[in-house]
Amino acid sequence: MKIRRIAAYKADLPLHEGSYNWSGGKSVTVFDSTIVSVETDEGIVGHGEVCPLGPFYLPAYGPGARAGIAELAPHLIGEDPTQLLKLNRRMDAALKGHPYVKSAIDMACWDVLGQAANLPVCVLLGGRYGEDFVLYRAISQQSPQEMANKVAAYRAEGYCRFQLKVGGDPDVDIERIHAVAAMLRPGDRLVADANTGWLMHEAMRVVRAVRDVDVYIEQPCLSYEECLSVRRHTDHPFVLDESIDGIDALLRGNADRAMDVVNIKISKFGGLTKAWQARDLCASLGIGMTIEDSWGGDIVTAAIAHLAHSTPPEVLFTSTDFNSYVTVSTAEGAPQRVNGRMAASTKPGLGITPRMDVLGKPVLDIH
Ligand code: MG
Repeated sequence: MKIRRIAAYKADLPLHEGSYNWSGGKSVTVFDSTIVSVETDEGIVGHGEVCPLGPFYLPAYGPGARAGIAELAPHLIGEDPTQLLKLNRRMDAALKGHPYVKSAIDMACWDVLGQAANLPVCVLLGGRYGEDFVLYRAISQQSPQEMANKVAAYRAEGYCRFQLKVGGDPDVDIERIHAVAAMLRPGDRLVADANTGWLMHEAMRVVRAVRDVDVYIEQPCLSYEECLSVRRHTDHPFVLDESIDGIDALLRGNADRAMDVVNIKISKFGGLTKAWQARDLCASLGIGMTIEDSWGGDIVTAAIAHLAHSTPPEVLFTSTDFNSYVTVSTAEGAPQRVNGRMAASTKPGLGITPRMDVLGKPVLDIH
């Protein structure tokens, strides 16, 4: 099988809540998503998506994804989309770095492979565990009381895992954590995600002030070394996210015992293939995982579901359903959350069909 055509579409994804706010005053109101179609000479068409969390989160931005795909796609015409490791090697040879650019193409090729094999992607990634898996809800940064109210509202919708966006003024963040912790019930899990926003001395004050709270601390500081310093001074379960972007970082973090949980974001690793390799390494090492992406709509959510549903439940800390945060649906057949849980499609490939009326005309068309 050969790739005959690669097209890309731009989709704007507004938020039900109006905006999404996190550390350092960063905020997004409409996410800029790129959807890629990979068409083969045998008539199979696969789809993928990449959606950075604005231009100021990871080294990634929406127009950058499309510029990178325009650069990369001509090198992939004629390649076999079902040979994923070979294809990734080709992408890495043609474009150094820029993992997020490769993510949507890699995802689309998994969709092709699944359709060609007549198997859902989660089966190809190792197998489906159980009926469904657990989701977290990200709680956008607001006042402590507003965040506590949001947690109460989302737990009424079935969520039992909450990721608070902190990383602001440490005194207010301490209030945020206490206000939300007061709303929780047995079995709930609370994560305070600073998204690199604290300096070490600020993080040290926060972890000491919430010492009696059952809360995970996520990526308190910008660098790996700063996070490690905080980690060594606290007994809270510890999550690394922004610092863990590949196998090297994972191996180093494991050797240093720098974290208990990592966030596997598909585009941060460069696609499903590399996220799958990282997932299986973490599973072997006993590191818990949040399986997710930087952001996305229906297609990213479908890909997350296949990776999460094929993750052994004991190491799957949580996952996410970005398509329920946004007001626009870009594909039919995407998984939908039920009572704070979600399941991967049982159809071949990713199990989605893009809504071409929403996607409109391609912004890139390479053949
Ligand atoms: Mg995070």
